[in-house]
Amino acid sequence: MSLEQVSKSSVLIAGAGIGGLAMALSLLRRGIDCDVFEQASELREVGAGLWISMNGVRVLRDLGLTEQVEQNCIAAERRSIRLWNTGDRWPLYNRSSDAARNQPYLLLRAHLLKILVDGVRELKPGAIHLSAHVVGFSQDDEGVRAKLADGSEVEGRALIGADGAHSKVRLGLIGNIESEYTKAIAWRGLVPVDRLAPHQREPEVATWIGPTAHVTAYPVRWQNTVMMTFSGQVDHDDWLLESWSEKGSVEECLKDFKGWHPDIIELVGNVDTLNKWGLFVRPSLGTWSKGCVTLLGDACHSMLPYLGQGVNMALEDASVLARCFEEIPMTSRRYSRRIRACGSIAPPRSQSRRPACCRSFITRRCASRRQRVTTSRPSGHRTRRLRDTIGSTSTTRPPRRFTDMLTIVTSGAQQ
Ligand SMILES: Cc1cc2nc3c(=O)[nH]c(=O)nc-3n(C[C@H](O)[C@H](O)[C@H](O)COP(=O)(O)OP(=O)(O)OC[C@H]3O[C@@H](n4cnc5c(N)ncnc54)[C@H](O)[C@@H]3O)c2cc1C
Repeated sequence: MSLEQVSKSSVLIAGAGIGGLAMALSLLRRGIDCDVFEQASELREVGAGLWISMNGVRVLRDLGLTEQVEQNCIAAERRSIRLWNTGDRWPLYNRSSDAARNQPYLLLRAHLLKILVDGVRELKPGAIHLSAHVVGFSQDDEGVRAKLADGSEVEGRALIGADGAHSKVRLGLIGNIESEYTKAIAWRGLVPVDRLAPHQREPEVATWIGPTAHVTAYPVRWQNTVMMTFSGQVDHDDWLLESWSEKGSVEECLKDFKGWHPDIIELVGNVDTLNKWGLFVRPSLGTWSKGCVTLLGDACHSMLPYLGQGVNMALEDASVLARCFEEIPMTSRRYSRRIRACGSIAPPRSQSRRPACCRSFITRRCASRRQRVTTSRPSGHRTRRLRDTIGSTSTTRPPRRFTDMLTIVTSGAQQ
């Protein structure tokens, strides 16, 4: 489908990442027309493993993707905390325990991307436009015009910036936001399990904790191959690019894990693909929306990876925002009012929390239909605690729970 064929009543989405595609699928499933504009010329299979926690699992279920996702997941038998040098293990849960009913999905980013792309294309084959780099927009009472890098413009009734941490839509909406390096970098790698010792091939999620780094490793499936995905966050004074496609070398990574347990050295030494990037934070935004334009996912609350919530919050955003759209009649003026209502109240101190009116909107609107995204969420103080924990990922310091854990483990290690 060419850009000229995009309907003026379409919701325009900048970015075909997890957030943009989940948004598109949520809208299309509600019968709301939309088009996605992705800067890349092809949808590449980039990225390592993703940890989809229960908030994300519920959104994927709501999108009707349970079967496809579960076919590509590996169910972890157990989850443990391990000590960086001795390998000592503290079990957190195993599959036969009660907690295991709330199993996260562990899968490759590439898989989730493909499942979402297939879902979107099934409902609207021409919805995803590649090589479509959104560079700006303008809007009036009639709607919005997204400007593309090749000089063309596309009209629609609303624009959603799902274009990641370096969002151009955010730039147009709010202006330049400086990011701050946290003096930590992240490594991501994938290792075919047949290169590893038999005890390392088990379906276990292990978080290794050390004085200057931590690593989480778990198995994921890619076609017929099982891979161990590992993500390591390491203290680093050096500045690195904030990019997911920066390659790293095994030698360099090994230096960061000098003295670590042989299981970690074996993982790094046998890695197939290795990426690294600097961890940056941005200040909370005073608003996420203006008129018919709004933001979701990393574009408005990019996160540090300590609790693996970047992808989950992008999924939640898409689900909530699609429900907001469902409630509004077709005119752009009303969209503008609704988007303003959902987004112009300043997000509370933590940039990862949704605006309060979004939360009350969900509660009011969706509770009445007994369809709340939050139906099976913990309620009351547990919900608040979850929000507080997730909120803390967007500060420059690691989340408190994590620092506490580090303090306990590293003081034990030094004794
Ligand atoms: C290549 C890549 C690999 C990743 N790998 C991992 C991983 O291994 N593990 C992990 O936990 N997280 C990974 N992430 C991050 C994680 O997917 C996101 O933090 C999370 O899903 C939030 O998603 P998002 O949709 O808000 O943003 P993103 O996932 O960043 O998606 C943004 C999309 O918008 C596109 N885009 C950017 N600017 C424009 C523009 N101006 N016009 C049009 N399109 C634009 C980008 O090409 C991208 O497809 C990766 C992200 C990317 C982009």
